[in-house]
Amino acid sequence: MRSKLLVVGTIAHDTIKTPYAKVERILGGSATHIALASSMFNLDCSIISIVGNDFEKKHLDLLREKGINTSGISISNKGKTFHWSGEYFSDMKTRKTIDTQLNVLEEFEPKVVKELSSPDFLVLANLHPEIQISVLNQIKNRPRLIVLDTMNFWIGTKRKSLLQILKKIDILTINELELKLLGRKKSLSDCLKVLTNDLSIRFLIVKRGSGGSLLVTKNSFDWVPSYPFCDVVDPTGAGDSYAGGLFSSLDINKNINRKSIIESMVYASALSSFTIESFGIERLLNLKKKDIVKREKELRKIARV
Ligand code: AMP
Repeated sequence: MRSKLLVVGTIAHDTIKTPYAKVERILGGSATHIALASSMFNLDCSIISIVGNDFEKKHLDLLREKGINTSGISISNKGKTFHWSGEYFSDMKTRKTIDTQLNVLEEFEPKVVKELSSPDFLVLANLHPEIQISVLNQIKNRPRLIVLDTMNFWIGTKRKSLLQILKKIDILTINELELKLLGRKKSLSDCLKVLTNDLSIRFLIVKRGSGGSLLVTKNSFDWVPSYPFCDVVDPTGAGDSYAGGLFSSLDINKNINRKSIIESMVYASALSSFTIESFGIERLLNLKKKDIVKREKELRKIARV
């Protein structure tokens, strides 16, 4: 039987500026990147999200063509789709959010229909923590794995609800800046302690862009490098496609423990290295699993994993 994956997150229009180019209102969002990244595996993937009256049908068709169940995507006629606009600096790492327009997301009250309420994997992608809580509360049986991703916007504005839901998850994926905002300590290692000890996060994955990713538990610390030979065009969605690659390859390994997570982190690193070679979801759309596996093998050699 195929494993069921439920992703709740944003479907967005993204405006992205790099030192070399600018694109306006392209398809993006945390749920979009995650679902597309995981669609290369034999999973039944469904999205719960909301879009507005400016959302083009061809984008929903595109998700469906990739085998993604879109029945949980509400189409609101009361406003526009979530819009995020960001700019990258010349190092192509540092990002500044120019604008976040929640639009229809502001009124979103997700309904998890029976058909979607018993997933094996639940991904609470970058989104309003109260929406993440609402979805989790509507799930019937505890999923085999609950992964949560968030960002500075929510850590800053919805800290209380975020801390509430962090107690109920298995894996948290964040970047270094978010780790500092969450941990509220000067040193990174003290922030790690706050998350793994005080907040009892079982598996913490810190995404460090070209600096690889760390798996931190209460008693262990492992590092997986990033793929070093890619030409960065647009880093947007790298973190989300990393998350999508991570748990979709975990499904194959079945046992979810430190060892299988490290294995999957190598796959996730390889997958996300493709995402950043084009704007938005473009590269994910024509990516073949064999390309990822080839890069994954190279990475294993480099990393000796
Ligand atoms: P990443 O580059 O992996 O951190 O994710 C980029 C995606 O996150 C973009 O496609 C945005 O639409 C989406 N995004 C940006 N800000 C937010 C936010 N505050 N909440 C949810 N999704 C967001």
